[in-house]
Amino acid sequence: MRKRVLILGSTGSIGRAALEVADALRDEIEICGLAACTSWRELAEQARRCGAGAVALADPSHYEDCRSECPSGTDVLCGAEGLVELIARSEATFVLSAIVGAAGLPPTLEAIRRGVDVGLANKESLVLAGSIIMPLLREFGSRLIPVDSEHSAIFQALHSGRSTDVRRVVLTASGGPFRKWTAERIAQASLDDALRHPTWKMGAKITIDSATMANKALEVIEATHLFDLESDRIDVLVHPESIVHSMVEFNDGAIVAQLGTPDMRIPIQYAMTYPRRAAGPGERMDWRAARSLHFEPPDFERFPALRLGYEAARSGGSSGAVFNAANEAAVERFRAGEIRFGEIARLTERVLADHRVIEQPTLEQLMECDRWARDEVLVCIQR
Ligand code: MG
Repeated sequence: MRKRVLILGSTGSIGRAALEVADALRDEIEICGLAACTSWRELAEQARRCGAGAVALADPSHYEDCRSECPSGTDVLCGAEGLVELIARSEATFVLSAIVGAAGLPPTLEAIRRGVDVGLANKESLVLAGSIIMPLLREFGSRLIPVDSEHSAIFQALHSGRSTDVRRVVLTASGGPFRKWTAERIAQASLDDALRHPTWKMGAKITIDSATMANKALEVIEATHLFDLESDRIDVLVHPESIVHSMVEFNDGAIVAQLGTPDMRIPIQYAMTYPRRAAGPGERMDWRAARSLHFEPPDFERFPALRLGYEAARSGGSSGAVFNAANEAAVERFRAGEIRFGEIARLTERVLADHRVIEQPTLEQLMECDRWARDEVLVCIQR
């Protein structure tokens, strides 16, 4: 029986890569549903190509356009409710959650409540609501398989030992385009500079997060939830070649790492076919060429977002939600040309400092913290 896969965020870089994998593994993967935020033309085109029975467009203003472009047999849903309804309508057995930001959270929760396995590429949903998601998984017996390359690596490395025997995990980081820049130069970096990632091809938000290292900060918080670890057992190590995707150190001193080319199709495929490993389209390592791998500790001074992420992870509760929302709002202002690069972390720090942490927040409280932090960024900019 083929796996019935639903892709939330099919027009983004993860979604497109997932469709390539599904196309190459047609014998075991069937695409039963697709969802996108605004790219209705591409969504309709994808539905036609892969024969998805149902699609959802988050932006309701292009519902009619999307419907007329989709094949006649395809159910077309729209709006935030449409995304949630798509989970039931598609009868998926696996949901790839790859919608950027908080919009991906309601359909992901719906999938978990239906006992469907989830491949999580949307790290924001764990950072925001890990304290809600992790207990829900246990309650409904669905599995969460990370797609983020570092967490996929840790997930894979953990298979070689017991979780109680883990001493720490080491998240590798490329260091981004400003790895060798001075603090002064980083503070003035342009949008084009920030969008020039040395190893990974990704969407704009995550590429800028890699330049500030907020992405690694989010990944530290993500890992605390996913692997039930305190942040002091999660280290970050800069590794510019992005070949070692992360490592797990066990109590006996043995370190197990997962390696591969920096090709997101590999962790995406692993999540979709888990626990099977199929011959897919991912790019392979060529060991015939001589190569060196480098490792260096991260610089918390030049990359203050990383320090803030650790602080948010340590405070726990609603801090992750506030860190994520403040960072996202500041990145938007940077992309709009309203603030300098160095302001992104500075604004995040100010908003975090003004936040009164809620220790065991409800989902409503987390959403409220998210809104508050976004507003607070705008207030700080206007001052
Ligand atoms: Mg990553």
